[in-house]
Amino acid sequence: MTTSTKTKTNKSTNQQQQQKEIKTTHFEYEFGGPFGTFLTILLLPMVVLFFTYSAKQGGMNMDLIRLLWKDSSSNSSSSSTLVQVFQQVLPNFYKPSSNVLEWDIMTFFKCMGWTLSWFLFQVFLERFLPCDLVLGAPIHPNEKTHHQQQQQHRLTYRINGHLAFWVTLLFVFFGYPYWITIPSSSSSYSSKNTSLFLLQFKQAPLQYLYDYYSEISFCVMVWCFILSISLYISSFIRHPNGTRKILAQGGNSGNGIYDFFMGRELNPRSLQDTFDWKEFCELRPGLIGWVLLNISFASVQHTRLGYVSWSMILVNVFQFLYVWDALYQESAILTTMDITTDGFGYMLVFGDLAWVPFTYSLQACYLVDHDPNLSTIMLLVIVTINFLGYTIFRRANSQKDAFRKNPHAKEVSHLTFLETKRGTRLLTSGWWGRARKINYTGDWIMGLSWCLLCGYTSVVPYFYAIYFLVLLIHRSERDDHLCKIKYGDDWDKYKEIVPYRFIPGII
Ligand code: NDP
Repeated sequence: MTTSTKTKTNKSTNQQQQQKEIKTTHFEYEFGGPFGTFLTILLLPMVVLFFTYSAKQGGMNMDLIRLLWKDSSSNSSSSSTLVQVFQQVLPNFYKPSSNVLEWDIMTFFKCMGWTLSWFLFQVFLERFLPCDLVLGAPIHPNEKTHHQQQQQHRLTYRINGHLAFWVTLLFVFFGYPYWITIPSSSSSYSSKNTSLFLLQFKQAPLQYLYDYYSEISFCVMVWCFILSISLYISSFIRHPNGTRKILAQGGNSGNGIYDFFMGRELNPRSLQDTFDWKEFCELRPGLIGWVLLNISFASVQHTRLGYVSWSMILVNVFQFLYVWDALYQESAILTTMDITTDGFGYMLVFGDLAWVPFTYSLQACYLVDHDPNLSTIMLLVIVTINFLGYTIFRRANSQKDAFRKNPHAKEVSHLTFLETKRGTRLLTSGWWGRARKINYTGDWIMGLSWCLLCGYTSVVPYFYAIYFLVLLIHRSERDDHLCKIKYGDDWDKYKEIVPYRFIPGII
């Protein structure tokens, strides 16, 4: 080797080292960095309040926009305008009798009490119902983990969400038990001077979920802030055994707002590491809460109209199936990006607890007073669209799951795959050979069918389809980027074999 080639080789290895160092020191921001995440933190609660309010009104209420617009172009006090807006959006939080708008603190505490009781009830079920103990995905050594101790580390999860779902429904349909006390003097059963306790069942007051829809969403959002702040602070505190917490790579930039949004700690846990906050919140209070909201809206419609419309029945059935499916396949969540990669911060806390139940239930809320009276043919078309979406979504996700569990299993042994340097295999035929994110396509088609059930007079019920499209495109780009980091050149090879992202032959 000549001296010049040696110097060239040295130079290029130095450059590679420098590039590596830059890569490790340069933090890649997502979601518009600190500024973008700050705006998102402020904007998301407003979106939830605006749409929960609009769904009840039967469409976008431009009065609110006009009020804010008039205020910004006139000299009137913006604080009084804000109070007027709040009074319209959250009417139950204001005393109706007074001329001067007065905040009704008791109603706020009542709604906050319901919110926290619901959360604690789900924690109680998670703790005390029988469960399967399932190992999560290993944190792979080549994924630039934050601590050496993480390598090949696998967490154990308590899987009993499906049972919790059915137990919750039992409480809703048959009532929740409570004790009543009968003084002995009025009881013919007891001659002693003691009281008699009787167990009775009380029907869950579901209509409150409709009456206080926006107010409860407000309290849930307050709870999301409290929880996210606590999680952020606790990520700095050492684990009781003295070790440092495992941090999420994407939520450890050093910028407080950004890390608060993205989630600093990867898998925050309590109760001697047996209670996983992220896995619990991903599937239980929000998803099961969404089903309860839908049931409540159907029962309110029944009370008001004397019947439950076909659109309402189908929206309930489709979304029930979607939630049931997620809980039935609970352990499948352990390999998703949310669990393996993202930290647990405001983004997921808000998404799981506030965004999912309150924006995914907009269709059922809208339908309470706005039955679009769809024709039988239209209803059949929508049912077909829903089952088409569900089939693609479920079969694609199950095929990947089955293959990852046992590639020699009968149902997947015929599929072709790419052997990667990382050690895992990428499917190149079957559903995953048609398009790289075909499961997202199925999910979106299903969501579209829920919106179509609401007719075509308002855009509010279509919020889900519009937002979900943006989310899935963005999420597919994030996953593509992460897979490129995980698989390197193998990912490029996979993309050459499977060139389409969502629809085979088109996109
Ligand atoms: P995926 O289920 O698509 O999982 C992506 C991961 O799968 C990749 O990182 C890679 O991880 C692995 N993978 C990718 N391609 C292949 C292949 N060809 N063969 C084998 N493994 C492959 O994504 P998500 O976790 O984002 O979503 C799961 C489901 O949840 C989706 O159906 C989505 O629609 C749904 N979802 C619903 C939301 C809602 O609000 N309703 C929100 C978000 C998601 P690795 O190789 O490391 O295993």
